[in-house]
Amino acid sequence: MAEKGKFQAIKGVRDILPPESALWNRVEQTAREVFGTFGFAEIRLPIFEPTELFARAIGQETDVVAKEMYTFVDRPEKLEEPETIGKYGDFITSIFRKYQSGEIPRNGYNEFALLEMSKSWDRFKSLEHGKPVSHEEFDNVTRMLVLRHSLQLGPEVSLRPEATASVVRAYTEHGMQILPGNAKLYYIGPMFRHERPQKGRYRQFYQIGAEVLGASDAPGIDAEVIEMLMRLFERLKLKGAILNINSIGDKNCRPAYVEKLRAELNKVREQLGADSQRRIETNPLRVLDSKLEHEQAIIEKLPRIAEHLCDACRAHYDEVKRQLGLRGIAYQENWRLVRGLDYYMRTTFEITAPGLGSQNAVCGGGRYDGLVELLGGQATTKGIGFAIGTDRLILSLQEAGEGAVQSGFDVYLAWFGPAAQVAAIGLARRLRDAGFVVELPAVEMKFGKSLGLADRLKARHAVIMGDDELAAGVVTVKRLSDGTQQKLSEAELFSYLRAD
Ligand code: AMP
Repeated sequence: MAEKGKFQAIKGVRDILPPESALWNRVEQTAREVFGTFGFAEIRLPIFEPTELFARAIGQETDVVAKEMYTFVDRPEKLEEPETIGKYGDFITSIFRKYQSGEIPRNGYNEFALLEMSKSWDRFKSLEHGKPVSHEEFDNVTRMLVLRHSLQLGPEVSLRPEATASVVRAYTEHGMQILPGNAKLYYIGPMFRHERPQKGRYRQFYQIGAEVLGASDAPGIDAEVIEMLMRLFERLKLKGAILNINSIGDKNCRPAYVEKLRAELNKVREQLGADSQRRIETNPLRVLDSKLEHEQAIIEKLPRIAEHLCDACRAHYDEVKRQLGLRGIAYQENWRLVRGLDYYMRTTFEITAPGLGSQNAVCGGGRYDGLVELLGGQATTKGIGFAIGTDRLILSLQEAGEGAVQSGFDVYLAWFGPAAQVAAIGLARRLRDAGFVVELPAVEMKFGKSLGLADRLKARHAVIMGDDELAAGVVTVKRLSDGTQQKLSEAELFSYLRAD
């Protein structure tokens, strides 16, 4: 918070500064290139959406929706304000109607405020005309006005905690089902979750994600999406990435498994921690995610989904594995990989990378065939996708020493005297046009100070322009790594810089 006029970034969010930002650009650019070769195109999505979209897609019971979203009531579009106290009755009635239709947020606060305003209005209405107004009556009207200004009249929106829901919304909104083949889309950008910050976990974090939406749920699509991810990690030289896969069944076979799991969990309820106990009711699959040491032995003995898949899900899963084999992609099967979000079905996958401590998942994904329908789209549309945690991917690359990026100036253009400045401005322009990175001092400096700055900026070369050089039609070039120096014409300078 502001202390002595200074500000700091809010807890859990951070600045990404140079030179690290260059690594971010390299990672994002590589993703664009690799995804492009698989026929994926970028979709740019809004940062905020109606809260209801996320609640429905991700699930009301998930931690993301129940505890972690940044939700606020937006400003109302247009509101007929009551001009006089006498108009408050109509105003309250119209707001009540909007409340009931869900046009304004149906939250406890609005309900309370509306009920109290109605009471105040009834009391005001019953006042007899012409009588002096008592203090109590005056307070009653004041209260009604205060309540009016505390109503939350705009639509309720949330900063996106993930982007799959938005991609699916956009897919249906823009009728993309009529496009030939499956829609293959990728996105890059920030997500927001109110989690406890730690290494690799932030409240504003970044994801690079991709989705395939369309009529087909062929296992080859699952395998190709995973192949695309692995190619990206390979191109980035991410070492030690491990692909975990699982199938969590579909609406035919999962409910029976979940019930069986719940029954087994109830038998060991007392030995479980509070979170797992709660999840027995809300989402028993999530118990399998538990990292609590003392729950591990218990979880190992629980029934496994693989033994409860229906024939169609089993065949799909077997074919995904065969297709991964065709692509030479190594994987580990992990029956406990259920993923935190409700919409997943059949294939789920996660990739872990070294150097990240406990937050070692760099990417999560899976199939979500029912999501399009759940969000009001075509029932037959299938979907699969993943999201890479960019912050973690970058951390892992840095830990492995793959985070270095070439940066810095090719040329520090030291000029001395007004005539040399004119020549230097022209030369800087021609060098930059040719793609060299040039630092041109904005003011004249003493020779020693200027070259000292060139050193500290880690420029590769200092190009020196003074009256002597101007008169001779040359520049002095000094290679700063070894101090070697020579006089060159402009044409020679360009060839020298290109070759050096
Ligand atoms: P999810 O959308 O929960 O499936 O997450 C996909 C990936 O996003 C994870 O594997 C992480 O790499 C990353 N991720 C999720 N939450 C955070 C967070 N709070 N901070 C940093 N990365 C995150």
